[in-house]
Amino acid sequence: MDCLFCRIVKGEIPSNKVFENEHVVAFHDINPVAPVHVLVIPKKHIASVMDIQEADKPLIGEIHLAVQEVAKLTGVADNGFRVVTNIGKHGQQTVFHLHYHVVGGRQLEWHF
Ligand code: AMP
Ligand code: ZN
Repeated sequence: MDCLFCRIVKGEIPSNKVFENEHVVAFHDINPVAPVHVLVIPKKHIASVMDIQEADKPLIGEIHLAVQEVAKLTGVADNGFRVVTNIGKHGQQTVFHLHYHVVGGRQLEWHF
């Protein structure tokens, strides 16, 4: 399977990593929308939230703990930030490997 983020996990495509452990990788988004814009992804290929299986429950917890680490490492933990995962066409998902955008470093707004 030719998946961009699987290739980043394998190191075949370079990324600017913020955090990594056995289960998860976090790296700076190539096209940031805010001063802090990091993607947190599972090393396992899962296409989107809709493809998470029962057995993936611990992995989803790992992702949330990694989000905390990323927030601390990038300095947004105190002022707050946003976590977003886009799903499918209406969600404007463009990379079909589960990822959580961690966005912050400025005051965010909320309109669609
Ligand atoms: P989404 O549109 O929610 O699927 O998010 C995909 C994100 O991946 C976008 O914000 C892109 O800017 C980002 N992206 C695409 N290619 C790369 C890459 N090679 N390294 C880092 N981020 C990337
Ligand atoms: Zn993948």
